[in-house]
Amino acid sequence: AGQLAHARSLFAVTPDFPEPGVFFQDISPVLADPAALRTVAEGLFAPFAGGFDMVAGIEARGFTLAGMIAALTGTGFLPIRKAGKLPAPGGRVEYTLEYGTAVIEAPDVLNPEHRVLIVDDVLATGGTLAASRELIGQLGCQVTGAAVVLEIEALRGREISGEVHALFHA
Ligand code: 5GP
Repeated sequence: AGQLAHARSLFAVTPDFPEPGVFFQDISPVLADPAALRTVAEGLFAPFAGGFDMVAGIEARGFTLAGMIAALTGTGFLPIRKAGKLPAPGGRVEYTLEYGTAVIEAPDVLNPEHRVLIVDDVLATGGTLAASRELIGQLGCQVTGAAVVLEIEALRGREISGEVHALFHA
C-alpha cells in the first residue's frame, strides 16, 4: 500500500494541455521511478494473472506497461497503433472523439486461442478502450480484461469502455 501511494504521488498534472480545459495527467514521473514502475506494472495485471497470454498496449504509453507485463508474466505483446503506422494491419476500428474521429489498427499476429489483456495509462472518455475491445474482437480473440493506471472518473469513461481495472482514480 505504501508503494502504491508513492506511485500515486508522482503523477504530474498540467492544466490546459493539449488544449484549454483539459487537465493532462502525465505518467512519465511514475515510469521514471524504479519502485513505482514495478508496483504499477504488477498492480495492473494482478487481478488477471493466469487468465491471459497476450498483452495489448495502446500507443504510446500503454506500450511500455504492456511490454513490462508481458516480460513479467511470460506472455506476448500486441501493439494497438494509431492509423497508418503498420504495413499490413489485421484489423482497423474508427471511433468518435470529442472532436472528430480516430482510427486504431493492430498487426495480424493473433490466433483464436489468444486471451488478451488490454493496457493503457489513462482512461479518459473510454472511447479508445472501447475501440480496442472491438479491434481485438475483429482479430478473432477474446478480451480477458482491461487495466489502466489512472481513471479520470468525471469523464465517466467506463460507461463506454466496459469493465476496467483502474489502479488509481482522479
Ligand atoms: P479516451 O478519451 O479515449 O479514454 O482517451 C484517449 C487516449 O488518450 C487514451 O489512450 C488515453 O490514455 C489518452 N489520454 C486521455 N487523456 C489523457 C491524460 O490526461 N493523460 C494521458 N497521459 N493520456 C490521456
